[in-house]
Amino acid sequence: MAHGEWREGLDGFKQNSDEALDELVDALVSSEYCVVMTGAGVSTESGIPDFRGPRGLWKNQDMVELLSLETLYGRPQLFYTEGLSVLNGMRDKEPNPAHKAIATLEAAHVVKAVITQNIDALHQKAGAKRVIEIHGHLRTCSCDTCKAVYPFEYMADEVRDGSIPPRCIICNGTVRPDVVFFDDQMPDAFREAMEEASKSDFMLVVGSSLSVAPAAYLPGMACSFGIINLEPTPYDEKAVAVVRGKAGEVLPKIAEKVLRLRGMT
Ligand code: NAD
Repeated sequence: MAHGEWREGLDGFKQNSDEALDELVDALVSSEYCVVMTGAGVSTESGIPDFRGPRGLWKNQDMVELLSLETLYGRPQLFYTEGLSVLNGMRDKEPNPAHKAIATLEAAHVVKAVITQNIDALHQKAGAKRVIEIHGHLRTCSCDTCKAVYPFEYMADEVRDGSIPPRCIICNGTVRPDVVFFDDQMPDAFREAMEEASKSDFMLVVGSSLSVAPAAYLPGMACSFGIINLEPTPYDEKAVAVVRGKAGEVLPKIAEKVLRLRGMT
């Protein structure tokens, strides 16, 4: 469907239209506690492939298998070479207009918090202050036994010196990235994300296939939610509006309209 067309969904939701975009603008303008939740799709325009989008990593190699506890412990050579290189590739990227628009909306007090499934820290690089990272980050790594924390670079240095898996200097445990892999427990940040979602009267979901649990349950905890995503998600029909477009193009338009309607420009 081309941008500009729209259709009413089963529940009367608006999709892929200027009308849908305005519906998201209205929701943001009238909300008292809006939270944004992002997924890998918000960072594709920064050059970080997503897992399941049209050009996602998923289609090229089995990322679930590579970035899993099974590979980490069962095939450490593969994990600490190929897996670590995928993670490292996310570290030197720059925020795109979508991250910047979200940071602008937060600075204008329209958005109260950003819940992200991403580990790339691009929201913080764009200036967002309250970022809840529910799948971890790439700033540190830690010992799986005594929980000692090291800079992320420690793993690369150890691997370069032939220490696979990298060992904890205190207890000789395995040092692993502070990232939530498939089958890992959710961090404390997830509790905070649930609290924010339950508090919010509107959640804007950006660039997520909404297929990874438990993150996919968060929009349902908000009073209402809207979606910006390139492809359909299982939650589209429950959204007040869905805009099928590139986050880096759609979000700056939305931010500009919201700030104008709130008298901030
Ligand atoms: P996903 O890969 O499952 O889905 C991404 C969605 O974004 C897709 O539906 C795709 O159509 C959409 N998309 C892609 N480019 C877009 C764009 N420019 N504008 C709007 N939509 C776009 O991502 P997910 O739901 O976040 O789940 C994947 C898991 O993998 C998450 O846990 C995430 O932490 C992790 N991951 C993170 C990164 C990162 O930190 N940048 C990258 C890859 C995967």
